[in-house]
Amino acid sequence: MKNNSFEDLKDKVCVITGGAGVIGASMVEVLASAGVKVAILDLREEVASELANKIQAKYNVECCGFATNVLDKATLTETKKEVIKKFGKVDILINGAGGNSPEATTKLETLDADSVDKLEEGFFGLKMEGFQKVFDLNFIGTLLPTMVFGEEMVKRGSGSVVNISSMNSYKPLTKIPAYSAAKAAVNNFTEWLAVHFAKTGVRVNAIAPGFFLTNQNRFLLIDEKTGGLTPRGQKIISNTPMAKYGEPEDLQGTLLFLTSDISSFITGIVIPVDGGYSAFGGV
Ligand code: NAD
Repeated sequence: MKNNSFEDLKDKVCVITGGAGVIGASMVEVLASAGVKVAILDLREEVASELANKIQAKYNVECCGFATNVLDKATLTETKKEVIKKFGKVDILINGAGGNSPEATTKLETLDADSVDKLEEGFFGLKMEGFQKVFDLNFIGTLLPTMVFGEEMVKRGSGSVVNISSMNSYKPLTKIPAYSAAKAAVNNFTEWLAVHFAKTGVRVNAIAPGFFLTNQNRFLLIDEKTGGLTPRGQKIISNTPMAKYGEPEDLQGTLLFLTSDISSFITGIVIPVDGGYSAFGGV
């Protein structure tokens, strides 16, 4: 019998990007509860540090916030030095920074014969700057931290990388082409790097969350005026067999599974945590 618990996680060190976000904070909490020391990397240093203090007090494990931009390799390298100085090593990397933006979202879902006068509201109105920002945050923002922190893991001969993908990686939702393309790239990269690292002791996997009501999608799913679901928000519920949005806590079990040695023969997979969304044919 090799291992039937998550106990190996105790005293491991995890770096989580976007750790101050809604999903990130819930991941920080479950890792700390398992005895993992956590470095929370986020653009919002104050929120990251507040969260770190709260978690450290609650679970009595070391936790620290770091101001980092996942798109800036020099800053990431500096942060790595600080993390190693404080914690001595890195065992786990969670690439959680990501999200969509109104600047990379079309107004129209689809074009038809009546759209000729308003092409700007669809694909043709997308601005390169907004598109690139969202694509880079989700894809390059996964690639660069993995380059910087993965090196430590490969040198030590062990580690687990967990990328945060999305349902959009399998089939794109309307309106959000940059986000969807970037998350598809994250899945592909997860497989590529898993193979590349397979003999090093470092595993690379991903979680594809279904739909969770958070800052990045609230503007699309909740009607500002009424506070109720938009037609799009309702459509998501109709296509989720469990007929509800997920809670960030719903991702915690899968995260422990992928980061712990309990999944030591698993690399290169993307696990959907989606209330049945990806299994449903829509009818
Ligand atoms: P969130 O906006 O609450 O959290 C994202 C965090 O990333 C924020 O704290 C933000 O400050 C940080 N961040 C943004 N840009 C950064 C940068 N350049 N460098 C460092 N940190 C940066 O969003 P969330 O809903 O918690 O999303 C977390 C992850 O889960 C994202 O990758 C998102 O795409 C993915 N996801 C979310 C959902 C959902 O329904 N909310 C579904 C599928 C996947």
